[in-house]
Amino acid sequence: MAGNCPIPTHVIVFFIISRLMFIIGKLSPGISLPPELLSLDIATMLRVDCEATRIASSDFGHLVHLNPSAVFHPSSINDIMKLIKTSYNSSVPFTIAARGRGHSLGGQAMALNGVVVDMTSLNGFSNGTGIRVSRDPSLGFYADVGGHQLWIDVLLDSLEHGLAPVSWTDYLYLSVGGTLSNAGISGQTFRHGPQISNVYEMDVITGKGELMTCSKHTNSELFYAVLGGLGQFGIITRARIALEKAPNRVRWVRMLYHDFSVFTRDQEHLISVNGLDYVEGSLILQQSPPNNWRSSFFSSSDQSKIASLLAKHGIVYTLEVVKYYDDLTADTLDGELQVLLKGLNFLPGFIFKKDVTLVEFLNRVRSGELKLQAKGLWDVPHPWLNLFVPKSRIMEFNEGVFINMISKQSNKTTGPVLVYPMHRNKWDDRMSAVIPEEDIIYCIGLLYSSSDDSNDWEVLENQNKEILEFCDKGDIKAKQYLTHYRTKEEWMNHFGSKKWDIFQKRKAQFDPKMILSPGQRIFN
Ligand code: FAD
Repeated sequence: MAGNCPIPTHVIVFFIISRLMFIIGKLSPGISLPPELLSLDIATMLRVDCEATRIASSDFGHLVHLNPSAVFHPSSINDIMKLIKTSYNSSVPFTIAARGRGHSLGGQAMALNGVVVDMTSLNGFSNGTGIRVSRDPSLGFYADVGGHQLWIDVLLDSLEHGLAPVSWTDYLYLSVGGTLSNAGISGQTFRHGPQISNVYEMDVITGKGELMTCSKHTNSELFYAVLGGLGQFGIITRARIALEKAPNRVRWVRMLYHDFSVFTRDQEHLISVNGLDYVEGSLILQQSPPNNWRSSFFSSSDQSKIASLLAKHGIVYTLEVVKYYDDLTADTLDGELQVLLKGLNFLPGFIFKKDVTLVEFLNRVRSGELKLQAKGLWDVPHPWLNLFVPKSRIMEFNEGVFINMISKQSNKTTGPVLVYPMHRNKWDDRMSAVIPEEDIIYCIGLLYSSSDDSNDWEVLENQNKEILEFCDKGDIKAKQYLTHYRTKEEWMNHFGSKKWDIFQKRKAQFDPKMILSPGQRIFN
């Protein structure tokens, strides 16, 4: 872990700018930036002080810490091109990782002894791409957004035009480049596909330092490589995101179950009928109460009702759905919802409804985050495990993992446990993202926060390993999401031979010197 930083940052920065050559010469042996980089105008955008490198050597997971040699603060896309080109043309290339918000879990945006590009630096400059809403006769409405932009800003800017993207993550303070490098999933995925299925075009700086525009029709190999590509093929500097007319409000409904087979049957029914805009689900357990940082939904009287149910069953499943509406559809909303929810088998009396604005709903995690930040409980270790499990094995997963492992764990740690289905056909197999080979797949999210005063993250990491072993032994063919494997072999296994072959070929084509996103530990 990084130590204290006793010298004021501005003193260090001044020192660096004026005597950069000298400083680099004196840095520790691990630090290896080529002299040609230091003779360029962009050298002044490099920071090597411990405050800058401390931030870049940590992430939301707080489980991995890798020090870069320097942090790069570009003021334009051109600056990033120059940086990558310098590495590419150097006899000893250095690694480079784009860092969006650093909300990865296992060092994915870090670059040990390399350079981390702080993408948020582009925010202050008009020549970094902003957010621009337009319309095209064939595509309809779209937004051109910088890869460094946060989804919350994409939402707020699009809403000014009465529009919004259709596919989301549960949390909006993530960068566009960061989520498109993974997939970007939430309760809208069953209907619209992940965020990577809702991109028309991108500008990408490849590992050779070339800026390329790509889409399904132009440079399509790069386009599909980058979507879910874990930052391996280029840095996304602009993405063209699909927009639709935005609703004003949402009706938000949660229904409770104690029987997992009934719960999943209803979930699968709801993603197969047309009409809902969001379907998710989660577990309620002693260690995972009905209200948590992910959203505060239930009133205190609802919570005591649920506590009695939990005492009786030990585990309760929540089905969560949303229907969007606006002034024009407000009158018919109740009737439509009644039809959609008709025939569901949730526990009688355990249906709860809320009515909120679209922004309140989409930005539901933010208030929980701010509360945890105020208590100093946001920046703690997060031993998360995210998995895609094929529908055909979800009952065994419930029995083996939710019932036999998670509901029996005795540590103090709390955190949401998500479980919801989506359709495979909303994902394009040409994209780099990997999901199981079945029509319906379940997303499982064990979103734990370690308590501040203990090392229970190790207990949870071990439990995560046990869960993976359970899947392996039972040949469940689950795929990890947001994973941080340690070896190339694990990655090869993750992709499967056919997809790994394509992934490798694309790497050789777009980042042959293996410069980009070394923190994923795929090729580095
Ligand atoms: P970073 O951590 O900065 O980077 C992630 C990876 O992408 C790194 O390899 C990095 O080098 C690369 N990268 C970053 N920017 C670019 C770029 N412009 N071009 C190319 N590569 C780039 N995910 C979901 O799908 N659904 C959710 O509901 C969801 N909820 C979350 C809630 C919380 C509280 C947190 C912390 C994470 C959540 N995530 C979710 C995971 C999140 O999508 C990923 O961790 C994502 O990578 C975070 O974005 P970031 O901007 O912080 O990326």
